[in-house]
Amino acid sequence: VKDSGRGGLAVHDPHAADGAADRLRLLQELRTALAQGEFRLHYQPRVRLAGGATTGVEALVRWQHPERGLLGPGEFIEVAEASGLIRELGAWVLDSAVAQTAAWNAAGVGVQVSVNISTRQLADPDLVLLVTSALARHGVPASQVVLEITETALMVDPETALSTLQVLAGLGMQIAVDDFGTGYASLTYLQRFPVHELKIDRSFVSGVVDSAPDRAIVGACVHLARSMGLVCVAEGVETDEQRDVLLSLGCDLAQGYLFSRPRPAGSRP
Ligand code: C2E
Ligand code: CA
Ligand code: CA
Repeated sequence: VKDSGRGGLAVHDPHAADGAADRLRLLQELRTALAQGEFRLHYQPRVRLAGGATTGVEALVRWQHPERGLLGPGEFIEVAEASGLIRELGAWVLDSAVAQTAAWNAAGVGVQVSVNISTRQLADPDLVLLVTSALARHGVPASQVVLEITETALMVDPETALSTLQVLAGLGMQIAVDDFGTGYASLTYLQRFPVHELKIDRSFVSGVVDSAPDRAIVGACVHLARSMGLVCVAEGVETDEQRDVLLSLGCDLAQGYLFSRPRPAGSRP
């Protein structure tokens, strides 16, 4: 028991302390993992709903843990983001994704590669240099890279985000709003920021067949994207029925288990 500092006594909470200790241990493990090259990228194709052609891939980070096996970002990205380690991890992700794009280009299959940019990375003044040096190092044109940013990340420091994205878009990169419709931002950012693509969140897509409100929301997103000249991508498409509804609503592209799970890079995307 110790003084809480506000005139009361706080009982030591063993769970809270364990949580902090766990996070610290995880952070140390993540640093080691980065140094030892335990991270991997898996790629999930994005396909044209009309016809099914693959137009690009999204890079999704994985951790090949020596004891626990392959871990998804849900197990570690939050700790990386909170600690600032996301800068190094994000730099690794960017470089690896651009290197893989160059390898596919050399094999004669040019596709766009989408990379997730976290809130902290977007606020990092070095982001532009990081991206441009990865492109230069591997000889990949900016037009092949899509940067996926959540509306929440745009709103944390809108002025910095705006100037960074203007530079990146000016260089030819595409900007996608990820998890579209789930943040708290007002839609006015679509007028201010250089945005090329809306990714409709899986939470709406999963209800598109059975829920009239979800279908209405997805329909409105598609309309908004089309009328602003933006590409519209549906996330998390799992069934033929969902694909058919999305196609009838006029959505351009889709990603999801129906087409492919994320998987390691092969000779073709
Ligand atoms: P996200 O950007 O919304 O990525 C889509 C997530 O949905 C991925 O989960 C993907 O594997 C999963 N998914 C794709 N199709 C389907 C489907 O049909 N059904 C279902 N149920 N899920 C599907 P994942 O790979 O676990 O990534 C989770 C989140 O972690 C991502 O959400 C993204 O926010 C973050 N993330 C992933 N890679 C990176 C990265 O390199 N950097 C940063 N900053 N964040 C990343
Ligand atoms: Ca994404
Ligand atoms: Ca999502």
